[in-house]
Amino acid sequence: MQEFLQGRIWLRELLPFGQEAVDGLIRDGLIGTVPGITTVRKWHGGTASRCNRCLSEDARHFHAFNCRKCGKICRYCRHCLNMGRVAQCDELLYWSGPDLPPAGNAVLAWKGRLTPLQERAAGELEESLLARRTHLLHAVCGAGKTEILFGPVHRLLSEGKRVCIATPRTDVVLELLPRFEKAIGETVIHGLYGGSGHGDGLAGLVIATTHQLFRFREAFDAVIVDEADAFPYSFDRTLRLAVRKALKSDGVLAVVTATPSPSILSEIGREGRRSVIPVRFHGHPLPVPRAAPLFGYRKKISEGKIPERLKTWTLERLRKEEPFLIFFPSIPLMEQCLPLFSSLDAGIGAVHASHPERRSLVMALREGRVPGLLTTTILERGITIPRLQIAVVGSEKTVFDRSAIIQISGRAGRSPEHPDGEVILFHHGITPEMDAAVREIRRLNLEGRKTFGMPAL
Ligand SMILES: [Zn+2]
Ligand SMILES: [Zn+2]
Repeated sequence: MQEFLQGRIWLRELLPFGQEAVDGLIRDGLIGTVPGITTVRKWHGGTASRCNRCLSEDARHFHAFNCRKCGKICRYCRHCLNMGRVAQCDELLYWSGPDLPPAGNAVLAWKGRLTPLQERAAGELEESLLARRTHLLHAVCGAGKTEILFGPVHRLLSEGKRVCIATPRTDVVLELLPRFEKAIGETVIHGLYGGSGHGDGLAGLVIATTHQLFRFREAFDAVIVDEADAFPYSFDRTLRLAVRKALKSDGVLAVVTATPSPSILSEIGREGRRSVIPVRFHGHPLPVPRAAPLFGYRKKISEGKIPERLKTWTLERLRKEEPFLIFFPSIPLMEQCLPLFSSLDAGIGAVHASHPERRSLVMALREGRVPGLLTTTILERGITIPRLQIAVVGSEKTVFDRSAIIQISGRAGRSPEHPDGEVILFHHGITPEMDAAVREIRRLNLEGRKTFGMPAL
């Protein structure tokens, strides 16, 4: 039971063990309990409900209901409801006995080579983690940040520490898990996301969605938040609290991102260290997006026509047989467009977050079996397709903020054989976010050129 419960906080009813055994360990002081929801005093003198699993204190998250268990009007938390309902009369359990070290003796099986910039960043990150100093790794899209993490993570594991890599997106967990399983041997690694199961044994390394951190408590010596700014989440209050709760009291936080937002920078604070990798692992600059007006595109599309410029762009990609992605601000607009694009080429498909064939369509694009895909921002990260060309339709919409545009642009030109690719922002009016994204990319490219000019590297 310790293997399961150590570092976790779990609803008593959902523990996969007999209640008698649980009661025994509570009596022996090896398992601690807290009520599911408590009332806390606020600074203004009033009170608020707090969910002891997700730590929400937002009044909108709490609902009163007629509880069959306690026979009273009880409250439950809606914020973390999909992990099983936490009500006021429920008990949350955690391991309060001495901690076991994670099993195994981690071995670094990865034998690849880092670029000098990657190596410097890996060294700095490792130093910070060992010194328990907050660290920001600001690495542009395509800088090879996963490889940078292998060394520092292995170092902590080999010292018997528990490490968590947390990311807002299930896609990223699914991408990282096999890479770490290959890179670091002889250690238990869990991949946790909605519907994943809980994993066997006591894991040294947990790769989890940030949501899953609600289920941990004083578990990790280090939490590395990857893609911290990923849309639609951001490094918001709930996430910050979840990370803090999952960390041991002397645990250390590191944040990895291609687009540090002001809230990330404030979380890192003055004491934190920062490593910047302004260039991609192949040394070529990031593609700078180009804005192109597409005024009145909605009207044109609703009339059943692809706006002229967009049509020309698409036909050009088809003619040159260059794989392409066209990003849309919403699913309805994308679905409205799909038949129009299908008339240009029947192979063009469309994907969005809950699309059942999402993965196979992306694979088909990678293998050249479909010429291009329409997509929502779900594909902004985590895909690498050589020669990929990118268009954004409606780049003035709020979903395409600075960070999303930088991420989307980062999909192009990722392979060393084809380091450039076109990124075109079709818009109905240029926004400050578009300008900010272009400025930031130019700044990083400039910084990259300077860094490469330095004789030390
Ligand atoms: Zn909750
Ligand atoms: Zn109740």
